[in-house]
Amino acid sequence: MNFSVIQPGIKPAIINDSSALTDDWFSRPYDELLAEATRVGALVGSAEHITRWSPDTCKCKLDQISHGVTIRVIDNKKQIREIFVVDPTKNITEGESINLCPSHAHLLFPKDHFDVVLEENQRKNRFQAAIGYDLPYKWSFDVNRILVVDVNGLTPLIANAIRSLVNDPQFKNKVIING
Ligand SMILES: [Zn+2]
Repeated sequence: MNFSVIQPGIKPAIINDSSALTDDWFSRPYDELLAEATRVGALVGSAEHITRWSPDTCKCKLDQISHGVTIRVIDNKKQIREIFVVDPTKNITEGESINLCPSHAHLLFPKDHFDVVLEENQRKNRFQAAIGYDLPYKWSFDVNRILVVDVNGLTPLIANAIRSLVNDPQFKNKVIING
């Protein structure tokens, strides 16, 4: 997940409007972008953007709320769009728990639900990053939500390298190896 990405536009229209920013402004730091948008009148207002998230680590569904602003942008074909830009100084807040999977059904508060599901998803992704993205990586979670990594079928050299990762403090007691 990368929440600094500018979300796709809404309200397409073709008008000639000087109160809009050109695309190149959107690679600038947030405060510069905001100052320029305010100066030229391209700032539409503050906004919230809801992202529905379905992690690949369980069957939960969550809505997460990002805070930011809506800014008018004009492209080189004079098309005007409004785009949402995430405010990096504000945290993404938990929204609603849309669906709780059996493993997380006990998490009654959206904040807890969000934190737990995010931690599991990031742990799995970090482990993948640690072993290298080109390696086959068979994983699952056990009933205690320990990440179980299956090294069956891998060469002993690779399997041992993966085993040694479990001692990394970020994975200790949170990842076990099967095989
Ligand atoms: Zn879940």
